[in-house]
Amino acid sequence: MTTIITHAALGLAMAAVAARKPASARLWAACALLPVIPDLDTPIGEFLHPKDLLWAAIEEGPWGHRGASHSIVFAAGFAALTLLVLPRPERTGRHWLLLFVAMASHGAFDALTNGGSGIAFLWPFSMARCHAPWRPIEVAPLSVSGFFTERGWEVFRSELLWVWAPGGALGAAWGLLSRSRQAPRKPAPPG
Ligand SMILES: [Zn+2]
Repeated sequence: MTTIITHAALGLAMAAVAARKPASARLWAACALLPVIPDLDTPIGEFLHPKDLLWAAIEEGPWGHRGASHSIVFAAGFAALTLLVLPRPERTGRHWLLLFVAMASHGAFDALTNGGSGIAFLWPFSMARCHAPWRPIEVAPLSVSGFFTERGWEVFRSELLWVWAPGGALGAAWGLLSRSRQAPRKPAPPG
């Protein structure tokens, strides 16, 4: 996985770019939370099936880590359900698309990490596990305590380079573009 901080920050950045303003607090919260939710597959799986032979078999199945919860269909369905808790003016196709992209981005960024199993993007139609052909991002530790180690810092540095820096540059370019579009045009000189 990518760290939950990076997943949540990406969701917030997408809301900043694509949500109609002013966006509700619920929409901001949803955009931060939805990209994190797919990784709940691990604590839920470990709670239901303590690490044993059974878990080892489940881990590679649809309910294992990076399985159904990381798929496109799951993101589409979860985004649709999330619309129900948003204020009525935000229950639109545009906001569904924002929530869907925010949540589906989780699997896409996981696929760019250099460790862990592949992503079941096409569940329930296929259980094929896919990685991106190019995987520059260091895979993050699954445990929270693992973030506060030398290894955790190494992972975060790699995310700063491969996710935050290009994301920040794109966001700044988008901001400048939309500001120049909104700038009032100067009236043509007389004559
Ligand atoms: Zn993940």
